[in-house]
Amino acid sequence: MNHRITPLSPGLYLVSTPIGTARDITLRALDTLASADLLVAEDTRSLKKLLSIHGVPLGDRPVWAYHDHSGAGVRQKIMAEIAAGRSVAYASEAGTPMVSDPGFDLVRAAVQDGAPVTGAPGPTAAIAALVLSGLPTDRFLFLGFLPPKSQARRRALAEIADVPASLVIYESPKRVQGLLADLAAELGPDRDAALCRELTKHFEEILRAPLGALGDALDGRSIKGECVMVIGPPVARDMSDDALRALVVEALQTGSVRDAAALVAERHGVPRKAAYRMALELEKDKDT
Ligand code: SAM
Repeated sequence: MNHRITPLSPGLYLVSTPIGTARDITLRALDTLASADLLVAEDTRSLKKLLSIHGVPLGDRPVWAYHDHSGAGVRQKIMAEIAAGRSVAYASEAGTPMVSDPGFDLVRAAVQDGAPVTGAPGPTAAIAALVLSGLPTDRFLFLGFLPPKSQARRRALAEIADVPASLVIYESPKRVQGLLADLAAELGPDRDAALCRELTKHFEEILRAPLGALGDALDGRSIKGECVMVIGPPVARDMSDDALRALVVEALQTGSVRDAAALVAERHGVPRKAAYRMALELEKDKDT
């Protein structure tokens, strides 16, 4: 038995659940699910299955459904439970609630009511993909799901093409090829990328290549399972002054002009001289 049943103080507990392998649940998540007075889930069947895999008894505790379409009625009932002194655990279908999953309105309502909100953090596909991609992790932008239609998706990508950060995008397997074509068109075919598929599951696969080559490699292949696309920051020769400045400003938080220039040059392939010049300029601006 991995869980402990302990009284929980009243409040909303956000519980992260596995994104594939059931054993990725944390011990504290199990404790919270074993101890909360009321369990609320995006998908009550998935949560009950998880409890049963880990031998967490439900007893006579209720499991309520709550998702983005549940509406204010259910939310108010949940808030009333907390106000009456009960602990409520909320889990989305997989991973971390509110990361491209429901839960935001629930947390906002709890915050507005002054109810305690805490969590048992754990898996999320965005971070799992980012760290396995082999791409820079010092700055990243999570974009969730982009619009499914190409025109709107390209507009969304054009807006962030220059952001000096790795990008993390969720996508349905049916649309991965279309997404790759738009990424290559808007960000350039040379930007490094990784397609992370079925993470923590039997058919886990990570394909790392520049956008253009990745598109070619996947052309005509039928893609299955859950997918996250990670794209590296703009390559040095395409980097705008603003993008370079943002990277150097951040590096200067923790290092000297020389260290900051070296770090940015090494991580982002920027010529060392350009990074050094930018770092010097920023230091001078600070003094004036
Ligand atoms: N809340 C979840 C989280 O914390 O990652 C995300 C839920 S969202 C509805 C589902 C999307 O997450 C999938 O379409 C896929 O892009 C990504 N995803 C979830 N599990 C994954 C996995 N095991 N491998 C790759 N991507 C995954």
